[in-house]
Amino acid sequence: MISISRYRVLLFSFVFILISYLVIIKHNISYLIIPFFVIPLSLLEYKDFELRFFLLSFVFFLSFVVNKVFHTEKAEFFVYNLIAFISVFSFSVLKSFRDKKDMEEKEKSKLKLIEIKKETDDIKSKIDFYKKYREKVTINLSSKQKVISCLKEIQTSLSNDEIASNLMKSILLLFPGSKSEFIISPKHSKIVEDVFKTLTSIYVPSVSKETRYNYSDFSTEERSSVYLPISAFSRCLAVVKVYSDKEDYFSVEDFRVLEIFATTASIAMENLSLYMTTEELARKDPLTGLFTHRSFQDKLDEEILVSARTKKPLSLAILDIDHFKKINDNYGHQSGDDVLKKLAEVISINVREVDFVARYGGEEFAVIMPQISKKDALNILNDIRNKVRSMEFYSGNQRFGITLSMGVGEFPMEATSKNQIIRVSDERLYKAKKDGRDRIIYE
Ligand code: GH3
Ligand code: MG
Ligand code: MG
Repeated sequence: MISISRYRVLLFSFVFILISYLVIIKHNISYLIIPFFVIPLSLLEYKDFELRFFLLSFVFFLSFVVNKVFHTEKAEFFVYNLIAFISVFSFSVLKSFRDKKDMEEKEKSKLKLIEIKKETDDIKSKIDFYKKYREKVTINLSSKQKVISCLKEIQTSLSNDEIASNLMKSILLLFPGSKSEFIISPKHSKIVEDVFKTLTSIYVPSVSKETRYNYSDFSTEERSSVYLPISAFSRCLAVVKVYSDKEDYFSVEDFRVLEIFATTASIAMENLSLYMTTEELARKDPLTGLFTHRSFQDKLDEEILVSARTKKPLSLAILDIDHFKKINDNYGHQSGDDVLKKLAEVISINVREVDFVARYGGEEFAVIMPQISKKDALNILNDIRNKVRSMEFYSGNQRFGITLSMGVGEFPMEATSKNQIIRVSDERLYKAKKDGRDRIIYE
């Protein structure tokens, strides 16, 4: 390919040759024709200094041959050729130097260009790497956030059913291509039985490569699976089986994530059970099984509101065992406890379904009686008092009995608030004690 600068040289050479030719023809100096033709050509095509030198020497030699052929023995001819030779030779030398310098510059720029290209490629690959890294980090972050929110949902579930359903939902969300089962019977399969027994997760990355279990131990759609125990207080409650119809579907990392989920669900179930026990303890008196004072307060709040809304009366009775201290003193604390238990039973059996019986204090009981006036409540309370009076208790072969004193009040007729109705009933109980015990004061 000929470059643009070469076109320029060609044009220049053509013009030079034409002018030279015209000058030679006009002045009848045809013997100059050869050098004038060859010199520009030699400069045009051959860049190598040696070649140019060779060509010029040849031209110079040729001029002698021409001289001989045309028999022109003119001294000017030789001088012309010599001058032409020297001028073109020096020009060639200079040009060679410049060319060499240009070549060097070109080489340098080429190297520089290669270097820049390398650097650019380097930066490009770095950018690619960071792009991929960022994508990976973003994916990781979003899946981590997903995992965290799923775990939170499991942890804040309010029942075992909710924990199980949130666990299964989370697994489906994180592994949308998988299937899962919540298994409560160890008889489901050999693997499930093993998990129930050992409380250890089983990871089967690929059913075809499985060595611990037989092919028949897996379901037809199962090509890779994870078995997770759901336990509370070292007892396996269920096994969650997560599986896929593709081999190597679950990575070791997936298995770890699933284990974290199962452990979280197990801890949540344990916590829930502990919470319920604590709640039960706070709500129920362990000796008598009746509601505690705290529950009594809550229930009374509630019933006062219902009574105010429905405009139906509410009666409150506070019962106290007479001279209970003596029972403890005479028959022992255990006998006192037995009396409390028995009495709790008698009260609970004899009140209505809607009535709320609580252990108000040591040997004091309270009965919240909704939608009933104190007069109607008296029938029930008197019945209890009579039944208790006729009961016989034993400590060894010693027999003893107890009596009850009660104070009864009615909302809203005698009190307009919870504290007021308690005070009214309590004051009447005090009066019953003062008046000789074994009685009900309701006025
Ligand atoms: P009063 O007729 O005036 O009510 O006399 P009391 O002896 O019944 O009343 P007091 O308040 O003097 O004594 C109550 C006793 O109840 C004191 C306490 O030791 C006993 N007590 C409280 N809680 C329990 C319990 O859980 N078990 C037993 N065995 N005794 C209890
Ligand atoms: Mg008392
Ligand atoms: Mg008492």
